[in-house]
Amino acid sequence: MFENRKIDWQQNEQNQPKGVYACSRCGSPLFSSDQKFDSKTGFPSFWAHLAENVQQHLLETYDRERIQLLCYHCGLHLGHLFKDLRTPSQVRYCINADSIRLQPSSS
Ligand SMILES: [Zn+2]
Repeated sequence: MFENRKIDWQQNEQNQPKGVYACSRCGSPLFSSDQKFDSKTGFPSFWAHLAENVQQHLLETYDRERIQLLCYHCGLHLGHLFKDLRTPSQVRYCINADSIRLQPSSS
C-alpha cells in the first residue's frame, strides 16, 4: 500500500509544534500543523491547505505542468503542489520555509 519511503505519521505527529502557518507577508492563515509532515525533501510539506487563502496557478514550463501556490491575499509565492501517493490527499504542498510563519496554538 505504501511505497518504500513511507512517512512515519506517528513520529511526525510528536515532533510538530502545534499551530497555524500563516503567510509571512500578510499574515493570512494558510496551513495547519496537523497537516504538516516530513517529506524528506528539506522543504516544509503539507497535504492540505486551509480555507481559500491558497491560490493554485497552473504553470506550463518545459512541457511539464506544475502548479504554483500563491497567497490569495497578497500574491506571495509559497511553493508548488505535487502529486504524492503517500499522503491522505495524494498531493503534497512543497512550501518555501521563508514564505510561512508558525503561529503557535496555546492548547
Ligand atoms: Zn499573503
